[in-house]
Amino acid sequence: MHSTTDRRLRTRLTSINKHIRADRPPFGATENVVLRRFTTLAGDPRRVGEMYQFWFRTRGCTFDRAGQCSMCNYGVGPDIDPRHIARALQWRMTSVPENAFIYVSPSGSLLDPREVPRELLTSVLAEVARHKPAAFAFESRPELCTPEIFGEIGAALPRSTKVVVELGVESWSTSIRGMCHLKPSPQQAYERAVRLAAEHGFDVIANITLGGLGLTHAAAYTDTVASVRGTRAAGFTTQMVFPLSAKTGTLLGWAHGQGLWEAPTLWMLIRVLAECAAEGEATGRSRDLDISWYNPGLEGVIQSRPDGCTACRPVLVDVLEAFRLEPSAATLSPALGWSGCDCPARTDRMLEPSPRDPVYRDRLVEIADRWDAVQRDRDRRSLPLLPSADGQ
Ligand code: SF4
Ligand SMILES: [Zn+2]
Repeated sequence: MHSTTDRRLRTRLTSINKHIRADRPPFGATENVVLRRFTTLAGDPRRVGEMYQFWFRTRGCTFDRAGQCSMCNYGVGPDIDPRHIARALQWRMTSVPENAFIYVSPSGSLLDPREVPRELLTSVLAEVARHKPAAFAFESRPELCTPEIFGEIGAALPRSTKVVVELGVESWSTSIRGMCHLKPSPQQAYERAVRLAAEHGFDVIANITLGGLGLTHAAAYTDTVASVRGTRAAGFTTQMVFPLSAKTGTLLGWAHGQGLWEAPTLWMLIRVLAECAAEGEATGRSRDLDISWYNPGLEGVIQSRPDGCTACRPVLVDVLEAFRLEPSAATLSPALGWSGCDCPARTDRMLEPSPRDPVYRDRLVEIADRWDAVQRDRDRRSLPLLPSADGQ
């Protein structure tokens, strides 16, 4: 439960986030479906295979329209004709062989009828079922996971398909989730969704961020490790760690432009994974970690990404690629033994908590105050010049 001061601050940040989002250029009405293919680990039991990841255009995430979440820009677009999008998806799916992994994502939540009309969801499920995939994954908010919709998904797909539900947990701390990420989903909604998924035999992935708005590097590190611990205890099948990037059209990206947020380093991610993998292996939860967004291209909406120097970056990206397919502490050894630059030592110094570090609330207030100051300055500059008293 947030205090009144927190609620006020959250309302302020959400309204700033809405403002920033309003300037995003929308998708073109012809950009309907995008397919990306890569090798990954999925299925039941988990094995390495080909993932066919489909994105399809919608008007955008409903929650994003409400000023959530501080780090996300999945894009917005004009209203869609569901039949048109269903046909485009059907056409792009023709190349998918049986027994593959299929991931389908709109610009937000597949289960949100305000974003994906039910007739479109029904067509998507029927099309996925036709390809008899080994695994079918999609992302949603926990509030949208209901017995009815899970029942419909289970009934539409072959029994051999492992259904995987990805939930954006961001942080297992409700205050960090609500204040830093501006995501108000309550803990009970996640716990209910995990229980419901277990009843249907679905897997659930917890998407956990590294580097939330307002957190120092040391606080971000601690929060991610604690969140992995929390989602493991809550029964999530997989903990997927996302180091954040600054994206245009988001509050996080704006704060980065103002020097008020910095992306976590790739070494932070390596340290988080090493600690969580060792803890998992010691408690019988081996191979339940995954990672994403550790190497986004610096084009499109990405302004700044998790990084190392030119010497260590390629080594770390290779190690992280290997970790995706074999998520164990041993896979991280080449990074942990690296001595080719001083980036790991610098990260270690950044991760030392200092009592002088401001708490995230103070840092969030600073971001909101900076926004107000920038707006005041802009308004002052745009005032028309008044003629002086002598008419000059
Ligand atoms: S993180 Fe998910 S819920 Fe939040 S704005 Fe992005 S798509 Fe929407
Ligand atoms: Zn380096």
